[in-house]
Formats: sequence, C-alpha cells, structure tokens
Amino acid sequence: MIQALLTMDDIPSGNTRAIVDYLNEAGIPAIMFAVGEKAEKNPEPVIYALQHGMVVGNHSYSHPHFSELSPEEGIREIEKTEAVLNRIYDQAGVRRAYRPFRFPYGDKGGSHREALQKYLRENGFSKVNDTRIPYAWWRQQGLDRDIDTLWTFDFAEYNIRPGSGFTIDDVWKRVRDPAPASGAALYAPEGRHILLFHAHDETDELVPGYYRLLLNDLKQNGVEFIKPDFI
Ligand SMILES: [Zn+2]
Repeated sequence: MIQALLTMDDIPSGNTRAIVDYLNEAGIPAIMFAVGEKAEKNPEPVIYALQHGMVVGNHSYSHPHFSELSPEEGIREIEKTEAVLNRIYDQAGVRRAYRPFRFPYGDKGGSHREALQKYLRENGFSKVNDTRIPYAWWRQQGLDRDIDTLWTFDFAEYNIRPGSGFTIDDVWKRVRDPAPASGAALYAPEGRHILLFHAHDETDELVPGYYRLLLNDLKQNGVEFIKPDFI
C-alpha cells in the first residue's frame, strides 16, 4: 500500500477551479498553497477551493528565495500572506483550523533555517503529520523536526514550459523512476509520500488536464490519497 498526501502549489491560477472540481470528483483531498500577492488580487479561486473542502496554506507573499532574504524580510513575507489568508477564510465563511506553510522552491532560508523554523514553531503554524514517512534521509536532514511542509516526491511538471525542452514524457520517467536522484521513488512498495504538484496555467496549455492524467495514474496504481493531518 502506498499512501500520499497531495499538495498543490501556487494558487490562485486560471485552472484552480478545474483542479478543485477534479480533486473532488476523484476523491483526492489536498493542501493548496497560496501565493499571497496573487491571492490578494484574485481571491475568488482561493475562496472556491476553501468552500470545496481544500485546506489552503501559506506559500509566502511574493514567492522569493528565502535564502536571499534576511530573517525579518522572510517573516514579513509570511505574515503579509497570513493577513491575506485570514481575510479570504473569513470571506469564504470557513474556519481556519490549520496553518501549514511551504517555502517557495523548498528553499528553507539557508543560514536562517533555524530562525525561520523557530518563528514558525512559535507562531502557531501547523506541521503536517510526517511520522509515517519511512525514509532515512527525511530524518537525517532534520526534515522530521521542521514545521514547514516539504515533500518526498516532486513531479517536476512545472518544468513543462515553452522552450524548456522538458515534456510530459520526462514527468512520466520521474513517476516510474525506481531510484530518483532526489526524494523517494513514487511507486516503491509501502511508500509514504507528500507529493509536490502545481496549479500552473502554462502547464495546462501545453498538456491540457495534466493533473488529471498524472493523478489518475496514481489512482490506477493503487495510491491511497490521505487527508491532510497535522501534529
Ligand atoms: Zn511555488
């Protein structure tokens, strides 16, 4: 049995509503991570996600590399988005039970990593329950202690862009790769994953319904999608 928690970054997007509809139709729960600046300008897709059962988390305000910011600048990015998300949860009429956070690019702030984790720990951010993640590297890198939501498998489908040379075939190779260079093999037996996926219109333009193609494959291969669960 392979279990996975789906996370979907960079909402709102033009395809957010279609993704939410697909996830509900397919019975796949998810955490969707919102970029504050985009959500402030375009809250409707985020409201739609909330009203249709998704947990929405904080993905910073302007999607920077946190290692290029001071800890204070990083915290400001997080807090600006907290304010935006509080307003959007209110508008949606949904109680904000959890506050997960994801660093853009998985960049945990370089030399400021501990300061930022301390901030997240002391300010009520929610840690995804990763106690069943079995990979030694998860603990060796201290990821089991961090509060932010990293991932164990990255589809890398966001690389499908005009001129990038990266195609859906490259994504399929990653999905089937028994020994990936980073992260854990998706289809290894008894896998426990946090999956990184993106709500990107550019990907949809080149591979219409990419989320449907890929996530249906996981379902057909017996992956059980689990509800967001926090510790
Ligand atoms: Zn992102």
